[in-house]
Amino acid sequence: MRWSQTFIPTLKEVPQDAEIPSHQLLLRAGLMRKLHSGLFTFLPLGLRALRKVSQIIREEMDRAGAIEILMPALHPQELWERTGRLTTMKDVMFTFKDRADRPLLLGPTHEEVVTDLAAREISSYRQLPVNFYQIQTKFRDEIRPRFGLMRAKEFVMKDAYSFDTDWDGASRSYQAMYDAYVRIFKRCGLVTKPVEADTGAMGGNQSHEFMVITDAGEDGLVECDSCSYAANLERAEGVSTHVYAAPAALLPVEKIATPTQRTIQEVADFLKADPKNLLKTLVYEADGVLVAVVLPGDREVNEIKLRKALGANAVALAADHQVRALTGATPGFVGPVGLTGAKIVCDRTAKGLQDGVTGANEDGHHIIHVSLERDVKVDLFADIAMAKEGDRCPSCGGTLRVKRGVEVGHVFKLGTKYSEALGATFLDEAGQTQTAIMGCYGIGVSRTLQAVVEQSHDKDGIRWPVSIAPFQVHAVLLTPQDAASREAGDRAVAALEALGVEVLYDDRDERPGFKFKDADLLGMPIRLTIGGKSLARGVAEIKIRGVDGIQEVPVAEAPARVAELVREQLAALNA
Ligand code: ATP
Ligand code: MG
Repeated sequence: MRWSQTFIPTLKEVPQDAEIPSHQLLLRAGLMRKLHSGLFTFLPLGLRALRKVSQIIREEMDRAGAIEILMPALHPQELWERTGRLTTMKDVMFTFKDRADRPLLLGPTHEEVVTDLAAREISSYRQLPVNFYQIQTKFRDEIRPRFGLMRAKEFVMKDAYSFDTDWDGASRSYQAMYDAYVRIFKRCGLVTKPVEADTGAMGGNQSHEFMVITDAGEDGLVECDSCSYAANLERAEGVSTHVYAAPAALLPVEKIATPTQRTIQEVADFLKADPKNLLKTLVYEADGVLVAVVLPGDREVNEIKLRKALGANAVALAADHQVRALTGATPGFVGPVGLTGAKIVCDRTAKGLQDGVTGANEDGHHIIHVSLERDVKVDLFADIAMAKEGDRCPSCGGTLRVKRGVEVGHVFKLGTKYSEALGATFLDEAGQTQTAIMGCYGIGVSRTLQAVVEQSHDKDGIRWPVSIAPFQVHAVLLTPQDAASREAGDRAVAALEALGVEVLYDDRDERPGFKFKDADLLGMPIRLTIGGKSLARGVAEIKIRGVDGIQEVPVAEAPARVAELVREQLAALNA
C-alpha cells in the first residue's frame, strides 16, 4: 500500500486530552480519531490492526471448537427483564423505544440473547456441548469513558458462551477457553497475567481475568513473587506477616481524651502507637442490618469479601446518624469494646492483638490497653480486608506485590443463572429435563489492541508485534524524484508483496529524516530503505524497529531477507 494512496494523518503534537502513552500514540500515528467521549473512528491503519487482532482471536476460538455466529446489537428489553438484569445493569445500558413504542436496548453483553437462542434450538444432550462466539460491537454507558479504546462507550468485544450437560463438561469448556486465551494473547505479542477474579453477586463459581500489568490500569491485583498465585484485589487473600507480641503485663482498659484525633494516623501519632495496634471500627449496613466491622488500623475493608463473609446481597457504610444511634459516637470514635446491638465482624489479621487502641464510643475519646480476646465479643472472624503489598501468599508463603492492571479478557463459569431464567434446558440420556450449565468468555478486542501499544512503545513511537502490526514492513523510498530510486523501490515492494509480505510504501516526496520519524512513530517491525546514496552503492538498508543498527544488503536480495525476518518474528509469536 502506497502512503500517498491511503490516509495516515500523523500528528507531531501530543493530543490534549489523551493521558496515557497508548492513547496518545494511536492518535499521533493516525490509527484513530475521536468523535465524542468514548467514541472513536478507526482509520485505515487502526482498522488493519483491529482486524488482525480479531483474526487471531477467530483462529484460536475456531481451533478450540467454538462456533462463530453474529447476534444483533439491538435487544428487546423484555429478555433482560426475565434475568433481572434490566434493573441490575440499568446504569450501563442505552435503553430506548422503537416507533411502535417497544422497549429496546443496545447490548452491553449477550448472555440473554445467546441463552434465548439455546433455549429455542437445543433440546437434546446430543447437541451439547456447544460454544457460540461472536466478534461484535458492544455499547456501555460507562460512568467514566477514558484512556481511548481502553474504556469506550462503543467497543469491539469477542464474546463466547458455552453450554454443557454437567459441571465436568463446563470445567472442560472453561479450560479450553482459558488455554485459547493464553495462545491468543501470546500471538498478539501481549504479556498477560491470568488472575483469580471475583465472581460477583450471583451465579458462577470460577473466574479468571487476563490482566496487562500497567500503571495505567484501573484494576488492582496482587502477584506472588515466587509462585503463580495472582488475584484481583477484589478477591485476593493476603496473609499478614505480623505477629502481635504479648505485653509484659496486660493492663485494664483505660479511657483517654483524644479531643481532635479521629483518623488512625492522628491517633497513632498522638499515642506514638503503631497503626497496626489500633483497631479501626466501621459501621456497615448489610441488607438493612447494621454490623460493626473491625480491622487493624493499617488495613482497608474489602467490601466484596465483607459481603461474602456476611452472606449479604449488598453492603454499604452506614450513615452518620445510624452510627451515632448505634454507638453514641461519630465515626472516628467508634469501637467494639462493650458494643451491643450489632454483630461484630473482625478481620482475621487482628487476631492476637493485645494492648491495642480503639474508639471509646464517646466523641473525643479512645480506650487503650485493649485485648481483642479479653475485651471484644467478636461474632465472626473472617478475611474481610484488602490484601497488602508485602503480605504472604496464601498458596506458597511467598511475598505478594500489589500491581495495577487492565483487564483484556475474562473467563467465567456461570452455572445455570441464565439457562434457568430463560429455559435453556435439554433432555438427558434418560429422557429427563436438565438445565444447561453455562460459561461466558470475553475479550476486549479494541482494548487489547490499545493494550499492546501501552505495553510496546518507546519515546519515538509504537513498536508493533509483527502479528498485529498494520503492515509488517515499512518501506521508505529515498529520493523519490529520482527515477532509478523509484524504480528500485517499486520493484522491491512488488517483490515483497509477491512473497506475501504486507508493506506500507512511503513514496511521499519528503526528506529522509521526516520519513524515518514517521516510520518510528508508526512502528512497523521492519523498515526497508531504498534509494539515495545507498542505492548508488547497490544496497538497501534493513532496520528492525527498536533494535540499534542497520543492515545493508544488496538491493536484489533485500525482499527475500525481509520476508525471512517477518517469518522469523511471526514464528516466535506463534510458537
Ligand atoms: P471492566 O471491569 O474493565 O469494566 P468488565 O469486567 O465490565 O470490564 P466484561 O463484561 O468482562 O468487562 O467484558 C469482557 C471484556 O470486554 C473485558 O475483559 C474488557 O476487555 C472489555 N471491555 C469491557 N468494558 C469495556 C469498555 N468500556 N471499553 C473497552 N473494552 C471493554
Ligand atoms: Mg470482566
